[in-house]
Amino acid sequence: MSEAKTDCIFCQIVAGDAPAHVVWEDERTLTFMDIAPVVDGHTLIIPKAHCDDLFAADPVDLRAVVSLSHRVAHAIGHVLHPDGLGVFQLNGSAAGQTVFHYHMHLIPRNHGDPLRMHGRKPGDPARLAELAKELREAMEIA
Ligand code: 5GP
Ligand code: ZN
Repeated sequence: MSEAKTDCIFCQIVAGDAPAHVVWEDERTLTFMDIAPVVDGHTLIIPKAHCDDLFAADPVDLRAVVSLSHRVAHAIGHVLHPDGLGVFQLNGSAAGQTVFHYHMHLIPRNHGDPLRMHGRKPGDPARLAELAKELREAMEIA
């Protein structure tokens, strides 16, 4: 596994050195609530091993993230019943990437929502915790 980067916030979350509302953890991936959600239910999936972006990612990790996204998507559908689900993934500052540890965004979308990939303010911690729990429970029963 590649070395954790001590200055990477997502590596710190993986190491348990920074807090996160974790939905799901397996050998290769971690799923948690985005700290500044675009909408209720905005979730991130990352490989635990650090890589900056898609270009640098381990294909085995990519498969693990995509495979898990299927389960997380169903959990979001079960809990929040959005009209649709956006799956976004940005690579490089020119593309709008702001955290340089590969991650997939899952963003519930409803008809009429503006197309946004970044939230403007931190989510309510109690709501993020509640959603993480509900999504985890939905994944456990699926
Ligand atoms: P990017 O612009 O790199 O595609 O998205 C980075 C995402 O990470 C943003 O949606 C931002 O809100 C989220 N984020 C940044 N720092 C943290 C953090 O410390 N914890 C969590 N849970 N999300 C974060
Ligand atoms: Zn990292």
